[in-house]
Amino acid sequence: MNLADLTRYWGKTRPQQQAIVFGDTSQTWAQVDAITDALARGLAARGVGKGDRVGVMMLNRPELAHVILATLKLGAISVPLNFRLIGKELAPMLVDSAPRVVIVEDELASLLEEGSAAVDFEIFAIGGSAHRRYDSLLDVGTAPVVDISADDPAFICYTSGTTGVQKGATLTHRNALSSGLSLVIGAGLSARDRVMCSAPLVYTGSVISIFVQMVLVPGSTMVLLREFDPEIALDTFAREQVTAAQTVPVIWERMTALPDFGVRKLAKFTFATAGGAPVSLDLLDFYNDRGVPLTQAYGLTEASGLVSTLEYEDARTRPGFAGLALVGTEIRIGAADGGFSAPNEIGEILVRGEHVMAGYWNKPDATAGALVGGWLRTGDLGLQDELGFLKVVDRSKDMVISGGLNVYPAEIEKALHVIDGLVDLAVIGVADDRWGEVPMVVFHSDRAAADVVADISVVAGASLASFKRPRHAVALDEPLPRTFSGKLAKAVLRTKFPQAPE
Ligand code: AMP
Ligand code: MG
Repeated sequence: MNLADLTRYWGKTRPQQQAIVFGDTSQTWAQVDAITDALARGLAARGVGKGDRVGVMMLNRPELAHVILATLKLGAISVPLNFRLIGKELAPMLVDSAPRVVIVEDELASLLEEGSAAVDFEIFAIGGSAHRRYDSLLDVGTAPVVDISADDPAFICYTSGTTGVQKGATLTHRNALSSGLSLVIGAGLSARDRVMCSAPLVYTGSVISIFVQMVLVPGSTMVLLREFDPEIALDTFAREQVTAAQTVPVIWERMTALPDFGVRKLAKFTFATAGGAPVSLDLLDFYNDRGVPLTQAYGLTEASGLVSTLEYEDARTRPGFAGLALVGTEIRIGAADGGFSAPNEIGEILVRGEHVMAGYWNKPDATAGALVGGWLRTGDLGLQDELGFLKVVDRSKDMVISGGLNVYPAEIEKALHVIDGLVDLAVIGVADDRWGEVPMVVFHSDRAAADVVADISVVAGASLASFKRPRHAVALDEPLPRTFSGKLAKAVLRTKFPQAPE
């Protein structure tokens, strides 16, 4: 079985069912199957074959799903590219993945310039006139027959880490399918579901955790939103009779602030979850009181999306936990001696199952560091209680999650290092009403604080995507606190600054 079979299967067995709803338009599974056949032929005519990479960078729109599905039909590898990054950040991903073709919305095409200076690929654009037209790919001719094995790569999803270097998690058809099946079995998602997708599908991993896990595998209907807006999202819940949604806590949070939540006539939900960061019991209460069975989830791109979910009933007795492993997933806590920790002891969260990535694209050393003895080292710290309920105690690599996007302090720190006269510099996440968290710089310098702050804003503006730019900067009169081993004591800083100082 592979992901390409699924589009064909739903096209044949549920031809009249809506596959994608987007604003006032919709397409059935038969239409999506036909369009993606045409697109696959067009791509094949431009030389895209099995194993080739096809980059895609768009805000949410039906063509984004078409490109992904057509890529999969060719046995080619889909590479979602995040339009929130800047050209300089995208270039290394383009060099690493070396796509044959990149398909973009014309307004985003300039983000590819730095990459195309370094590596050759053909650009097809929706709209505009400077590039080859996307429409020209909707070709005629015969559909190529491609033999796809479950272990062929299907996606490369870029995710950054401690080092600030982007690594491409390579996910095979088997990886993505098995994560989809776990969710179908665990949550009961089916073709009858209507899944709202408000997260941009090109963000790290959301193509798997939403599109594959919740739409392609169950054969449901995807109600796709161009951009997230709390009012539109809540309206869509009611108007489109949405029955399933997965998004980050800050988005669920922002919907609660809408005044007339209670009067909307919502459908009965099959599955609603907040993943990516811990949620409060208050938030779970809010939704569950209003008939939306919101759960908490834990997952990561390297494991093809969701790994565990916490049912509401369990959240009441275990607030702050991230739940039980999905079927087909094993979770253990690694001990310092290389073995497994006893219940309630903190260690690194380890994950095993068919959904765990094949490795990082072109990065054998990083792969060897992440996949050890059949287990994925998540880099997250956690514990499991006697019954196996997982608690995430600390996130990996002091990552900050801002509006659902991962921000790695190391990457920001590295960029800011060029600033003169900085004795010490650390980036931490601080609470923010709108984004959940935002990055803040704490520094010690022998220069005037205002000058350093001005430099920070110039350097960040030139080298980092806007969501990574520090929103606050604090100067300390003394050097930053360090641990006994001499490392910056970020935990101390985080305790000292849960919020940005006034
Ligand atoms: P990504 O690289 O975008 O797939 O993000 C995955 C990371 O998000 C995980 O490695 C965790 O650090 C973090 N994360 C995901 N779910 C949770 C959760 N429920 N609680 C805390 N952190 C989470
Ligand atoms: Mg990650």
